[in-house]
Amino acid sequence: MANGPTVRRTVSALRRSLVPFRKAGERIALVPTMGALHRGHLALVREARRRARRVVVSIFVNPSQFAPHEDFGSYPREYKKDITALTAAKVDLVWAPSAEAMYPHGFATRIEPQGAAKAGLEDKFRPHFFGGVATVVTKLFTQTAPYFALFGEKDYQQLRVVTQMAKDLDLPVKIVGVPTVREPDGLALSSRNAYLSVQERATAPTLYRVLIAGAARVKRGEPLEMVLEEARAEIAHAGFGLDYLEARHALTLAPVASRKDGPIRLLVAAKIGKTRLIDNVGV
Ligand code: AMP
Repeated sequence: MANGPTVRRTVSALRRSLVPFRKAGERIALVPTMGALHRGHLALVREARRRARRVVVSIFVNPSQFAPHEDFGSYPREYKKDITALTAAKVDLVWAPSAEAMYPHGFATRIEPQGAAKAGLEDKFRPHFFGGVATVVTKLFTQTAPYFALFGEKDYQQLRVVTQMAKDLDLPVKIVGVPTVREPDGLALSSRNAYLSVQERATAPTLYRVLIAGAARVKRGEPLEMVLEEARAEIAHAGFGLDYLEARHALTLAPVASRKDGPIRLLVAAKIGKTRLIDNVGV
């Protein structure tokens, strides 16, 4: 087997390992993940390798972005498999801090993004989420000082929030969005797909199918609200508990009334059984 990536677990060890890269003038690309890696994550790694000489992947299941009732405890953790995949993907360094290394005793700072982070989408159902994401992502950026950081369009609101945050705080990093990687039947790859029963897995691609059909209708000029209403009904009929299905401005995530209001993104979140799935497409 090829040599695996260097694994670092403390901030000081991470910084020491990055010094030679920086001394050699080599650009670093960071791919933040929570592990349980799949082809979606690996698409981010490939894009990172295309852009930068050195690739750092972080694996950190961030407790501060989960609410007490959410799946922090049961979130899939597959560290050994992840390292095997990252070895094959020729990643240089894995940053896998413990919760104590990331949030030492006495930690008392939190970043609270506004704007797209308050769009009434994920934030409405997970009010703690973007504060946790913004805080840990800012820390990951200052820890690794990457030239690029790659995020999936799969988590579209997160991509917009992180992009705006980097701009607002003058963080010296270029945020790169990567298109969603899907199963052949359209289901967006997600670590949480592992929770689905056989029957739920068979129903799950409905989300993408309904989004694509809705986007085509909006493009043809059908009234937005009517398209959304019918799409919502179809998702509920398939057996999902719908959190939201919305059409928003693709950059600000502000509400839109029609295509005249700018580029549109359709975003959905719905529960099937106990598993909450999200997806989105451009119009
Ligand atoms: P996670 O481990 O779920 O926090 O995801 C880490 C990164 O991978 C985030 O930027 C996600 O948006 C991205 N990602 C997750 N699933 C996919 C997918 N199916 N296609 C592309 N990117 C993804």
